Order: sequence, then C-alpha cells, then structure tokens
Amino acid sequence: MVHLPEHLLVGYRHFMSGRYVAESGRYRDLAREGQAPETMVIACCDSRSAPEVIFDSGPGELFVVRNVANLVPPYEPDGEFHSTSAALEFAVQSLKVKNIVVMGHGRCGGIRAALDTNASPLSPGDFIGKWMSLIGPAAETVSGSTLMTRSERQTALERISIRYSIANLRTFPCVGILESKGRLTLSGAWFDISTGELWVMNRETGDFERPQEDA
Ligand SMILES: [Zn+2]
Repeated sequence: MVHLPEHLLVGYRHFMSGRYVAESGRYRDLAREGQAPETMVIACCDSRSAPEVIFDSGPGELFVVRNVANLVPPYEPDGEFHSTSAALEFAVQSLKVKNIVVMGHGRCGGIRAALDTNASPLSPGDFIGKWMSLIGPAAETVSGSTLMTRSERQTALERISIRYSIANLRTFPCVGILESKGRLTLSGAWFDISTGELWVMNRETGDFERPQEDA
C-alpha cells in the first residue's frame, strides 16, 4: 500500500492542473537541456523561509540547500560527511553558479537553541547542539550581552551567523578563487517572517539594510 499524507496529494493535484500546465514547456526544456541555475541559496529548514516562495522563483532558477539555521561549515576535507559542502561543490564546480546567497530569517529556532545554553539536547545524539556549535563563540558573546533584549540578541546572532557563513564560504578554495576573479558573488540576506521584510547585507560594512525599491 502506498501512502502519502493527504494534503500533499491534494497539493500535487493542484500543482499538476495549475502551475505545471502553465510551465510545462519550461519543465520540458529543463528535462532536455538540464538545469543551469545562476544562483545558489543557502537557507534554513524552517517551513516559513522557503527561498523559492520568497523570491517567487520558477523551476530551474534556484539551486537551494537548506539546513538548520542556514550555516556553512568551514572547508574541512577530512573524509567526513559534509552535505552542505557537497551541495556547494556541485553548485560552484559543476553548475558554475554566479551568485551564492546565504539567507537567514527571524525567529530561527536553531539560533534560539544556540543562545539557550541551558537547554537540554533533544536526543542523545544532540545533532542540533553539535551543528550549532559552529557558531558557539559568537553565541556565547551575544547571549552574555545584558544590554540587548532577548529578541535583539536573537536578531543579532541570526545576522552574525550569516556573516560567519559567508566568511566560511571563502575558505573553500574554489569559492575564493572565483570570487577574486569576479565570477562569483556572495551575498547575505535576512527575511523577517512577521513583516515579510527582506534585509540585505551591505558588502562593505556587513550591516543589514532594506534594499532600495525601484519605482
Ligand atoms: Zn531557522
């Protein structure tokens, strides 16, 4: 007996009769010619921060990797299992994407877990704890700041972690080389779930600003 949650089957039928019909030519082209997305997005698993929805993207436009709190680990060719690094390698070396965007978001549960140093692990493996230890030093600094409110600490670490991930992207030799040749751009963005605002990282200052809307 095959089984899929009913709401997924309903959604799929809706997709097939609506969007797929409208975009069937595009799907056929992509099947024949393969994908050639120009942009990779590294986003959080959070169900509220789907890049394809936020950037209103069609099939073949975005190469997306999602993990808890949209973190990029540093370059570590140690023979271990590195899913984000594998996706990055494929995007840069095979697809030759021109842009990589690290997109964080407000109210991120992974970031909240990193700030909550008293929380006990969700399971004996403590995979989230281990994963979030990537930004451990920054989390410690931010959580120790008594001048910020709880929500300010949360937003601060969400944005610091984006800068951290971009710095780690540059530790991958292929990324560093292509960026220095002007063939790859790295960007940071932060999506505010409650207002829909998108804040973009200023490359020079590292600050997050609202992009100028074209009239
Ligand atoms: Zn998140």
